[in-house]
Amino acid sequence: MKGKIKFFKEQEGYGFILGEKGEEYYFNVHDIKSFERPPRMGDQAEFNVKASTSENKKDKAVDVVITKADFSEENNRHDDRITCPNCGRKIVPRLVTNQGQAEKSLCPYCGAKVKTFPMSYVQWGVFVILLLVFLIVKFGH
Ligand SMILES: [Zn+2]
Repeated sequence: MKGKIKFFKEQEGYGFILGEKGEEYYFNVHDIKSFERPPRMGDQAEFNVKASTSENKKDKAVDVVITKADFSEENNRHDDRITCPNCGRKIVPRLVTNQGQAEKSLCPYCGAKVKTFPMSYVQWGVFVILLLVFLIVKFGH
């Protein structure tokens, strides 16, 4: 069978493939035979179908091979996940703001600081003024 990846939840390790007639097949990360990166929406796949044993469940795609990865910007630009330096998970960092300014971002799983944002121009201005005042007070005589 041929189809396209409808979506794949990397953290949960499963997804769905859309068949050529619009039918959906469940697949598990363990049923993927080869890929260079986790499957993404739009990737073309070849697979075998294993009929579901339960009536209310979808048929399963097994022996999934990603035949053509979709690297088009449309399907990849929304992926802003990074690897947490502390726990190593793929995460979308949670933004922490201070007085409307993005201050830092945290890992939603372990709470580790992922990124500290550089100071804004206003903050830099205040910093420079304070430094000047300090220098004048100390060496200004
Ligand atoms: Zn983490």
